[in-house]
Order: sequence, then structure tokens, then C-alpha cells
Amino acid sequence: MSHLFPNYARDTIDLIKGSGSYVYDQEGNSYLDFMSGIAVTNLGHNNPKVMQALAEQADKIWHSSNLYTNHLQEQVAEKLTKGKDYLAFFCNSGTEANEAAIKLARKATGRSKILSFEQSFHGRTYGALSATGQPALQTGFFPLVEGFDYLPYNELAPLKEQLDENVAAVMLEVIQGEGGIIPANKEWLQSVAKLCKENGSLLIIDEIQTGMGRTGTFYAFEAYQIEPDIITIAKALANGIPVGAMLGKIELAEAFGPGSHGTTFGGNNLAMRVADTVVSEINQPEFLAEVAVKGQYLLDELIKLSEKSEKVLDVRGKGLMVGIELNSPETLQQTIQELKVQNLLAIKAGKNVLRLLPPLTISQEELTKGLEIINSVLLK
Ligand SMILES: *Cc1c(COP(=O)(O)O)cnc(C)c1O
Repeated sequence: MSHLFPNYARDTIDLIKGSGSYVYDQEGNSYLDFMSGIAVTNLGHNNPKVMQALAEQADKIWHSSNLYTNHLQEQVAEKLTKGKDYLAFFCNSGTEANEAAIKLARKATGRSKILSFEQSFHGRTYGALSATGQPALQTGFFPLVEGFDYLPYNELAPLKEQLDENVAAVMLEVIQGEGGIIPANKEWLQSVAKLCKENGSLLIIDEIQTGMGRTGTFYAFEAYQIEPDIITIAKALANGIPVGAMLGKIELAEAFGPGSHGTTFGGNNLAMRVADTVVSEINQPEFLAEVAVKGQYLLDELIKLSEKSEKVLDVRGKGLMVGIELNSPETLQQTIQELKVQNLLAIKAGKNVLRLLPPLTISQEELTKGLEIINSVLLK
């Protein structure tokens, strides 16, 4: 019997090796990786530069604690804030980055209420779970943290109604990931940002899935011309070495003074050295432009497919974060299994959305090959 808690509905394949856009199981089968460990291995598996950074740092020092200066944290923070007036706090996961964001927002504003959106996903710890607008994930875990409310995504009137002097922050994903690859409407997001500013509420943008180049800009919000007060990232930040980060406007510094918040492992030398390499690789105009081009090709080809396939209701997304809405949860399950039989790994989002998250380094040939497999399964 398994001695693991059954909290994951695991597939039987056991991946033991990865290389570029491919992963290999114990039986020797190879799979084209269109899920990247859930938007984590954005630079592919066994990326030589990432491996070199890891090996070099493993030889020096892995962990020193946050009691000492850490030049690697300074370096990564400088790269993540891109010369803008933000400060960084490093942690170990997405949910922790959001916990930091929620705590910072409350302390900095002296207000308690956090507004987030229906079908959002912000993590599994109590604060982040309380911000997650999915009742199914909260069932059985009550009482949650007080002061959270959920609004319809892409709608302005309900937000206007709720936004008062008690609202510390509005928290959202630019493209809802787990919720079903639902992009924010541009005018809506710009209005949300404007309303927050007018109301003295902070805008927290959860870029944990959309960030790190996934949508063709380093952060997805950059395509919306808004300036968040707080940004959270994790997943792809060190290509699979656990790490998360919260970036906040410099004006918020005082609320996170010495002793106010912390973590033992957060931003340790090993994770930071790898993150430094990953951020440098991704945050280059040519690299990001290529992601956008590959993403547009993927989206265009899938739209063509949607016109021919009765199983496909909608195709949406940006860059290499694309969702194919299928006609039922059963079709989705069957599609995922059939893709696997044809040696392609993809995952679900929402109830009936097939989620594609190939590595950002995927080649044009690999993308075309993946599309052939997806076409053959969805046109059957
Ligand atoms: C994955 C994810 C999280 C949670 O990250 P963990 O590292 O699993 O805690 C939070 N927000 C979004 C948008 C995510 O995709």
C-alpha cells in the first residue's frame, strides 16, 4: 500500500528523467511535456545553464539564514524589480508569497478586508485559501480567516459596490490559471487599478502562474499598463527549486520592519543562485518576443482546430499559457488520457479546460509535433 496521503489524484506514470521539452517514465516511455510541472520548468528540463548554477552554488554554500546579508537575494531582487521602486521578500512557495502579500496589505493600510474573485486560486494555506474563490477547495476547513470576500471576475459594478474604507487590498490573477485560463479584460483591469488607487486600497497581482515570461512579457500585467502595489511570484522562479517572492512598492517598507515577518529557508543561497540565472535567461527582450510568437502560433492553430472539432467550445490564453475549453469534464478526462497514450502530457484547469503550458524554450518543431497530437485526439 501507499504510505502517502491520498490528497492528490495521481496518474500512474512516474517520471524519472527530463531533457528539454521531454520527460521519461520508468517504463522507458517518452512524453512531450506540455505542462512543465504546472508552469514551473519554464526553461525546460536539465537546462545546462540552470544545472551549472545549481552545481556551482552546491559547491559553495546552500543556506546561511536571513540573519546575515545575502548578496544573491540583493541581486535577484534588483533583477525582479527591474529598476522600479519595489522591494522584495523571498519565501519558498506561491502560497507563502500570497500570505506575505495579505499580511503586508493589512499592516500597511491598517484595514482588514481583502477582495478577490470567483474561481481564483491563490494557494492552500489559511490566508491564501481564504482568498481563493473556490468553495470546493474550502469545504471542511472552516473557519477560514475573517475579512475575505469574492466578486465576479471581469465585472466592475460589484467591485464598485464593495470598495470602501475597509478594503486593504484587491487581489487577482491577470489570467486565472487553475480557474480555467480566464484572461482579465483589459479595460476592466485598468479600471480596477484606478478604483483601488482612488480608494487607498492596494492592488495585489498574483503572477505565480502567469509570471516569469509565461505569457510573453516577464510579468503578465505588463501588457495591461497598470502598476500593482504588490506582485507575487513563485512556480518558475527557480525552474523547480522551491522559491517564492513578494514584491511591494517601496512606500510599504515600514510595515515590514525588522521582526515583522520571516521564514527560515526563504531566499536561501541555493535557490537564489538558481533564480538569478533563471531570471537572467527569461528577462531578455528576444527571449520574451519569441515566447509571444510561439504562443500566437499555438493559439492560431488551436483556433483553427476549434472550428473543426465538435469537442472544443473555446480557445483562450496568452503566450504559452493556453486553455482549450472542451464540451464536458468527461471529454476532458478522456482527452488527457488519449494525449498521454500519444506521448503528450497536458493538464486540466477548471471543470472542462485542457491547459497547455509547454516550456518557454520549446522549439517550433516540438510545438508543431504537439499540435499534431492534439489535433489527432480532438478531431477523432
Ligand atoms: C500555484 C499557484 C499558487 C500557489 O502556489 P504554491 O507554490 O502551490 O503554494 C498561487 N496562485 C496561483 C495563481 C497559482 O497558480
